[in-house]
Amino acid sequence: MKTLVFATNNKYKLEEIRQMLASEFIIKSLSDIGCTEELKETKRSIEGNALQKAKYVYDTYGFDCFADDTGLEVKALDGKPGFLSARFAGKNATYSDNTKKLLMLLKEANDRAAIFRTVIVLIIQNKTYYFEGIVNGEITHHEIGHVGFGYDPVFRPDGYDKTFAEMTLEEKNQISHRGKAVVALTKFLKQL
Ligand code: IMP
Repeated sequence: MKTLVFATNNKYKLEEIRQMLASEFIIKSLSDIGCTEELKETKRSIEGNALQKAKYVYDTYGFDCFADDTGLEVKALDGKPGFLSARFAGKNATYSDNTKKLLMLLKEANDRAAIFRTVIVLIIQNKTYYFEGIVNGEITHHEIGHVGFGYDPVFRPDGYDKTFAEMTLEEKNQISHRGKAVVALTKFLKQL
């Protein structure tokens, strides 16, 4: 069976992708290949950061691999926090710090439209492929729900009357940005 490295140590993301590709690929994590350092994400776009991580692993360790990056893009904030989503309220910001900052900036906003966007970059036999998943929604006026992580309590996807943080993981994965990007990646890998 072919081996692919997923440039992450996030157990939840690894489990998700391993389930989807179990019969076709062995998916290794960064720690499985002896990479213990934190991968740099210094580019100013989601695509750039995903490419930076995948390329680093490919060039340094020589494995076919893929990496993901996600951002929340809010229309009234000209697409912010975007690639800065993880550290919106500062370098060591918690999920709660970031969410509070977002709600504060949108206090007066009527247009609360936002998208979650995930980009996965795959490098296989020296060729680079991009996969994207987007979900449209809006930012609520306060936090609702306790499931999930990040901006989940303030993101309500279009067509639903609850936030991501009020959904089960299964429910969220069916419609989420990351779920869609992973489906696009697995479709591609299965036809190789
Ligand atoms: P990452 O690229 O997957 O590490 O995501 C960057 C940041 O975006 C995270 O630190 C979270 O703040 C946010 N984020 C990513 N995915 C989600 C999600 O599914 N729900 C809520 N927030 C997310």
